[in-house]
Amino acid sequence: MPASIRATMAQYSIKWLAELLNLAFPPRCPACLSTWPHPGLSADFLCPDCLDALNPIVGSLCLDCGRPFGPGEQYDHLCGDCLVTPKKCRPIRSVLKYQGVAREAINRFKYGQDVSLAPPLGRILGIGLLVHFGMAEIDMIIPVPLHITRLRTRQFNQSYLLAGYAAGYAGRKAVPLLWPALKKIRVTSNQAGLDAYARRRNVREAFLVPEKFQRQIRGKRIILIDDVCTTGSTLDECARTLLTAGAASVSGLTLCRTLDRDDRSAVLGIS
Ligand SMILES: [Zn+2]
Ligand SMILES: [Zn+2]
Repeated sequence: MPASIRATMAQYSIKWLAELLNLAFPPRCPACLSTWPHPGLSADFLCPDCLDALNPIVGSLCLDCGRPFGPGEQYDHLCGDCLVTPKKCRPIRSVLKYQGVAREAINRFKYGQDVSLAPPLGRILGIGLLVHFGMAEIDMIIPVPLHITRLRTRQFNQSYLLAGYAAGYAGRKAVPLLWPALKKIRVTSNQAGLDAYARRRNVREAFLVPEKFQRQIRGKRIILIDDVCTTGSTLDECARTLLTAGAASVSGLTLCRTLDRDDRSAVLGIS
C-alpha cells in the first residue's frame, strides 16, 4: 500500500478515535465545569451556555481609551477624560464586559490558578485582536508584566498566557510575542480607593525596558495585552515606558473592561 494512502488512513483513524472519545468522555466546560457532548470540540472551548452569557462590548466608544458610552450616544468620539489628559496607550479596546461568566472565569483563572481557562479566554481575546486591530499594523505583542514576587506566588502571568493563545489564534507568525521586553521593577500598592491622579502616581516608573531589548523595541508598533482594564493607568504607564524606549506607537487590548463603580471596586480590591 502506498505511503500516502497509509498516512491518510492513519489520519482518519485518529480523527474517529478522537470523536469517539469525545462522545464517551464529553469535554468539561472550563468556566461552568458542566459537560456537554459535542463532537469536534475539546475542553479548550467554553460551552454554548457560557458563550451565550458573555456580554461583548458593542456600541459607541471613546476613540482613545475605549470607554463605552451609553445607548444615547450614536457615534465614537473622545471622552472628556481623554480630551483633558491625552493617553499614551491609544487606542485601548476590550472584548467583554467584566460581568457574570467572564468575571467569574477571570477570577478563577487568576486567583484560583485554573490555567485550563487560558485557551478559551485567549481565543476570545484573539478574536478581539482580529476585530479591533489590523494585523498588518502590529509589529509586536507585549503582555503586561507582573512583579517577580507576584509571579512567584501565582506561578504564571495571566496576561502572558492570554497573549500567547490570542496570538496563536490570530496567526502567531504575523504577530511576534516579545517576552520579557517589559519588566515590572517594583511592587505597586492596591489601587482601591485611589483617585485617577493617585492611581497614575502609584504605577509611575514601575516598569522598565531592559537594555538588551531596547534595540528591538525601537520604531515598533506595539500592542499591550492585559486581562482587565479598570482605569487604564497601568496600560498607560507601560506605554509611556515603551514610548520613552523608542516604540513608534503603543495600543492596548484587554479581555474585559469594568463598566461601573461596583465592577471597578471589585477589581481594585483584589488585584
Ligand atoms: Zn460553561
Ligand atoms: Zn477616553
